Amino acid sequence: MTFLEGEVVGKSETCRGQGSLLMSCNYSNDKISNDEFVVIEQKCKSAKMIDTKSNVKDCISQDESVMFAAGITFEQLNDFFESFELVVRNSENLAPKESNIDFRNYCPKFLELDRKGWCMWSSSTHKIKLFGLEYTVIKYTWGGAQECPFQNREVDPRYNGYKYGATDYIIYRETQENGIGMHIGSLLFHQIAKHHFFQDQSSDYRVDPKKLIDMFDLRPETCYRVPVIEKKYRAMTSADGSRLPLSPATPSCMDVTNTEIWSILESNEEFILYKRIEPQNEQEKLANYCVIALKENPDSTVVYQDISYPISLRRNYYSDEIRIVKKPIQVC
Ligand SMILES: [Zn+2]
Repeated sequence: MTFLEGEVVGKSETCRGQGSLLMSCNYSNDKISNDEFVVIEQKCKSAKMIDTKSNVKDCISQDESVMFAAGITFEQLNDFFESFELVVRNSENLAPKESNIDFRNYCPKFLELDRKGWCMWSSSTHKIKLFGLEYTVIKYTWGGAQECPFQNREVDPRYNGYKYGATDYIIYRETQENGIGMHIGSLLFHQIAKHHFFQDQSSDYRVDPKKLIDMFDLRPETCYRVPVIEKKYRAMTSADGSRLPLSPATPSCMDVTNTEIWSILESNEEFILYKRIEPQNEQEKLANYCVIALKENPDSTVVYQDISYPISLRRNYYSDEIRIVKKPIQVC
C-alpha cells in the first residue's frame, strides 16, 4: 500500500472541527422547540435510550448539574472526546492478546449485549497516553450505526453513521487502587458533547457523568485539545449520505451488481479499489468510487493515479473533494 504525503496547511492547538469526529446534528438545546423535544423524546424511548417513563429534558438537566458541580464544561468534553478519538485513530493497533485485562469487571452491560446479527467491520487494541494518563482501549467498528434521535434533517440532512454511532470503545486505566474501566459508544461522544445527553439508567449505553470524570480525571479550567498538524490531500473524501447498494463480497463476481456495472481499478491482498460506471441517479454520482479494505485494521491511504483514497473502514465510499487530514503532533 502506498501513502501520499499531503501539503502541510497548518498547525493548530485545536482539534475542533476534525471532519470525521464530532459535529452537531441540530441546534443547541435552548434553540429546540418544545414540540421538537416531544418528537426527540419519543425517538429516545423507541431506541431504548431512556425509559418510557423518563423525561428527556430532566435526564439532560440532571446530568448537566453533575458536570456543573464538578466545574467541567461541555466544550471541554467536546475537546476531550475529539482528542481521544484522534489519538486512538493515530495509534498503533496491538494484537488483542496484548491485553490481559478482564473487561467484564468494568463494562458488563456492554459485553452481555446480545450481539447476534451485528457485523463487526474491525476491532483493534491500543495503548495511548493522553493528558498524562495511560489507557488501554479496545475499539470495535460495526457494519451499521445507531442514529441520533436529536437529528433535525433540516439542519443536518447527512447520514452520520460513519461519523458516530458505529463504533464502541472499551477503555481501561490503571489506578492506585483497582483500575477503572468503562464502555463508551461513539454516539455517546456526540450526544454528550452536542446535546448534553448521557441516556438514562435504563440504557445499556448510558455513560455516568461522575464515572466519566473519574475515568479521564477531568478537571476544571483545563484545556483538553491536542496540538494537530493539518495536511491537505488531493483526495477523495468519504461520501456522506451515500445510498450505494452493497456489492458482492468477492472480487470475482464484483463486475456486475444488479443493474450497475462496477470495474476494479486496482486490487491486491490489502485492498480493492473500484469504480461504479453507471450511477443510477444524480445524487449517487457523488459516490463513484469505493475501497474495500481486506486487512483487519484498515487505517491508511490508497493512492491511485495521483488521487488518494483514505481508508478508515472496511468499505469506504468517496466523492471528489479536497480533504484536510488532521493528526496529533504530540500527546500532552
Ligand atoms: Zn445528534
